[in-house]
Amino acid sequence: MIARAAAIAGAVLLGAALPTSADIVHLRGGGRIECLEAWIDQSMVYYRIAEGTLAFPIASLDRIEKTAVEDAATHAPGLTDPGIQSEIRWEPSLSVTDTPAYTEARAALGRGDLRAVVEALSGTTQRSLSEGMLLGFALIKLQRWGKAVTAVEPFLVDHESDALLNYYLGLCHYHLGHDEHAVRFLRRSLEIEEDPGVRDLLERLQRQSFLVTSGGSSRTSHFMIKYDSPQNARLAQQMLDSLERSFTDQARLFSYSPPDEIQVILTSRHHFYDITRAPEWTGGINDGRIYLPIGGLEEVTEEAERVMRHELVHSFLRMMTKGNLPVWLNEGISMYVTGEELDDYTRVLAARAQENQLVPLAGLDHSFKGYAGAESAELAYGESLVAASYLANLYGFEELNRLLRSLGEGTHFDDALRQRYKMDVIELERNVRAHLLKEAARHPGEGIRIR
Ligand SMILES: [Zn+2]
Repeated sequence: MIARAAAIAGAVLLGAALPTSADIVHLRGGGRIECLEAWIDQSMVYYRIAEGTLAFPIASLDRIEKTAVEDAATHAPGLTDPGIQSEIRWEPSLSVTDTPAYTEARAALGRGDLRAVVEALSGTTQRSLSEGMLLGFALIKLQRWGKAVTAVEPFLVDHESDALLNYYLGLCHYHLGHDEHAVRFLRRSLEIEEDPGVRDLLERLQRQSFLVTSGGSSRTSHFMIKYDSPQNARLAQQMLDSLERSFTDQARLFSYSPPDEIQVILTSRHHFYDITRAPEWTGGINDGRIYLPIGGLEEVTEEAERVMRHELVHSFLRMMTKGNLPVWLNEGISMYVTGEELDDYTRVLAARAQENQLVPLAGLDHSFKGYAGAESAELAYGESLVAASYLANLYGFEELNRLLRSLGEGTHFDDALRQRYKMDVIELERNVRAHLLKEAARHPGEGIRIR
């Protein structure tokens, strides 16, 4: 996901003096956030600061130190994350099998070693439903959509009314670009059991079904592009050419080439927001598919290229790390690679660093889609860029690639950071803050060059 250039300009101007804080949010691992107000809503912790309202998963919360009486009315209206609720869930089937392969696979799952789960179960041919679903789950987490379909599809014969089985097939076909199959399985899953994540994915597909009838599509060696009207065929081809150029550059930079075809959806601005339910300040979205608003575009502009490069980095990172990386690092690297410069804006970051009010990275590990306003989103983007730039510049990009590769092997971020950079997240936050303050001191009153 990326913020629109126009939204950024607006945001930058708003960075002002810091208000006095009221509540203190204490995070697991020791970070703290001083804010005007903090509250919990379902699985998210929300806190309001001058630039807007931010949120993070309750799993990162230690406690909220309140200094004022809570008043529901002051909550920022309509701040919910309309994105895909649950990427994937897994429930062991009741008929637990205790074959050696299954026992070994469950132990591997407990260690978070998805590859070992696949290895343990790939050897067996006659699999029970539990074994097939566990194998399917592991392959989906490893983003091997085609193999996951092969692993679970045979169970449709005897288990066609299994909601999870149909959901797995729907999700895989979504990422493989097989919309009709995906709709059929997701609809079937919902008939059996209602689930907000499944419903969201189905509706996202249904809201783009017009592309099949009124639009067109085109393919290159790495991309499948769908667009909303034949008039955009030439623009779509130009965007494909631009994407292929970026693909070559990024494959060289990451020393990695994504194995799967990347789906790209081009629509008008109206359809873009309707399909993705993204906040108004968004300029592109990547949920495994890249969604781009092209309303009014005749040629590929510099801004359009910037957005495409940014979203493509997300595809590289998602496949390279199997989705096992914090959101701030995903966004930060995307901005770093596309040469984002937030000179002016970083004045706000430096001011927050001086007040020790940078958002702890744990508070930036969730979809930025939940930010209602561009200002609060830009704070999150800005800090993500500073942290990612700091890592990329510390020992060079190849060392960052090594970190990404170990995330792809299933290593937890904290462990990978310790192994590669000999520091933990708290130390990283401290170093990023020190880096910002040093830059602020070197350029008093001026914008700060991140790199
Ligand atoms: Zn992004």
